[in-house]
Amino acid sequence: MRILIVEDDETLGSAMTQSLAHAGYAADLTAKIADALHLLSVENFDALVLDLGLPDGDGYDVVRYLRKQGKALPVLILTARDAVEDRVQGLDLGADDYVVKPVAMAELQARLRALIRRSSGASSPRVDLGRLALDMPGKRAYLAGLALDLSAREWSVLEYLATHSRRIVSKEQLIQAITAMDQELSENAIEAYVHRVRSKIEGSGVVIRTIRGLGYMLEEPENAH
Ligand code: CA
Repeated sequence: MRILIVEDDETLGSAMTQSLAHAGYAADLTAKIADALHLLSVENFDALVLDLGLPDGDGYDVVRYLRKQGKALPVLILTARDAVEDRVQGLDLGADDYVVKPVAMAELQARLRALIRRSSGASSPRVDLGRLALDMPGKRAYLAGLALDLSAREWSVLEYLATHSRRIVSKEQLIQAITAMDQELSENAIEAYVHRVRSKIEGSGVVIRTIRGLGYMLEEPENAH
């Protein structure tokens, strides 16, 4: 999952970036609204963490831009303590949730997890697909009750395909979903990750199809019950 953080406080920004990267997200940090709008127009993100007081304007402008474009990207606003009007205005504009500064990293992660879960349509932290069970907060996958040995990248590939099941996911989308701006990942590398995930989930009934020229699609078994 890929997160864009817009925060001009360097210390807080890098703390959040590191904390999210450590938790297995691909996190990008920018301090300016102009850069954020550019990134949002050319890259795919799964959630946005947004400070309000930014050097080139108001964080609300980013929320307005997104909603005007009809983009449903979940937005988590960072707000100063007791700024009730900020929260209300943010939620009215279409932000999804907020975290009060000083930001506790555990809370930031928990709220992001909940937002991403809601936006992908899954209400439960546990996702069952065939004989596979995905523990979303724990970032672990189980096959018939046994924990699978997945690397962080393999987990990210499986997580992304599972939350977009029965939809075609392009290699480019997968690359964007699991890598930050400062990282490089080739299509060959993605193919290798998918290959490994496929062999690890063999026997689960869940299939990752290759859709020639388009990408991949995760499918659950027909008769799951
Ligand atoms: Ca600020």
